[in-house]
Amino acid sequence: MYISKQISTLQPSATVAFTEKAKALKQSGRDVIVLAAGEPDFTPPASVREAVAKEALEGPTTYGPTPGYPEVREALAGYLERTKGLKVTPDRIVFTNGAKHAIFNAASVLLDPGDEVILPSPYWVTYMAVIELLGGVPRIVEGKSTNGFKITPDELRGAITDRTRCLIFNNPSNPSGAFYTADEVRAITEICVDAGVAIISDEVYDEITYGGGPFLSPAAVSDEAADLTALVGAFSKTYAMPGWRIGYLVGPQPWIGKVTSFQGQATHHPSALAQAAALACIRCEEDFVGMMLKEFRKRRDYLLEAVRGIPGFRVDVPPEGAFYLMVDASEAIAAVPDVSGDIEFAIWLLEEAEVGLVPGEVFGASGFLRISYAASMEDLEKAVDKITGALNKLGI
Ligand code: GLU
Repeated sequence: MYISKQISTLQPSATVAFTEKAKALKQSGRDVIVLAAGEPDFTPPASVREAVAKEALEGPTTYGPTPGYPEVREALAGYLERTKGLKVTPDRIVFTNGAKHAIFNAASVLLDPGDEVILPSPYWVTYMAVIELLGGVPRIVEGKSTNGFKITPDELRGAITDRTRCLIFNNPSNPSGAFYTADEVRAITEICVDAGVAIISDEVYDEITYGGGPFLSPAAVSDEAADLTALVGAFSKTYAMPGWRIGYLVGPQPWIGKVTSFQGQATHHPSALAQAAALACIRCEEDFVGMMLKEFRKRRDYLLEAVRGIPGFRVDVPPEGAFYLMVDASEAIAAVPDVSGDIEFAIWLLEEAEVGLVPGEVFGASGFLRISYAASMEDLEKAVDKITGALNKLGI
């Protein structure tokens, strides 16, 4: 069967691929610790699971409106006002099959072939794939480790050209855990507004921060900013339900109307069951995120110290958000015979240490590894021991 030219160079998502590889090895009977994909190891609140069960037993099984049920969009509008100070009417919201789908929708409706997209690095792997798939031109701006993996307003200004269509802004960042303060978000947003550059703002880790002040969405900076921002959110990370695939996209009208048409032709609305889950998350009275955050903080603090004890591993930037740690493993990589680069090293680690991680190269950060600490403390301790053991075996 013919494969179109556009798709022929498309690679599998590396985060997904490394996770599947590690899970398959575990299923084959090996004692593998999977710290690859960002999948919180918590059970969603009981009220959320019950809402989904109730929807399955009693809810409609017919099609619903493409952007999602009105009461769920209404509830999300209230939630965005409560949590982010945004004044959003439900007609500016489209529910999607996870945040990844929202990003793909947003980029599809924004980009013409040849449009430039500013992409701060390290970046989540799928941003690059989406830009390339749509014929966009990525302009990578390196978030230097000396600046906490963040780009500066001057660096952003310097990257804008008359072809720039948008900035993909991910705060807190996957994979680096960088967190832009409210002042930094304001500065970056104002530059985009002045230049008429749209912002795809991926905010899926918004509530997972370890200090650094309150979270600010670019859409909350000003009315002009809200009119140029495609806000991407989800409940996967904050309510530990990534497999239920529910996210959302918020943007100005009439732009979001075109997103709705696009989605209506491609996938229609996300499952009614997933929408019921989203509604229950919004109405959840327990401090579920606070509970997870306490655990994530403990794990982050443990990992920061423990990883620095692994030979050839270095961490210069402690993560301030999300649940990933970027480790500079270049010294360890250089020390392992017959291994070249972080991709081969991640494969070696999976086979020899039985630990599944994601190599930095796929995030535009060669020599690094991304460790997800959305895993139990026991698993993290085991992973550190296993990696140390595998390196020690080689005399490293
Ligand atoms: N966003 C998560 C990660 O980076 C889930 C996997 C994916 O879709 O990339 O690990």
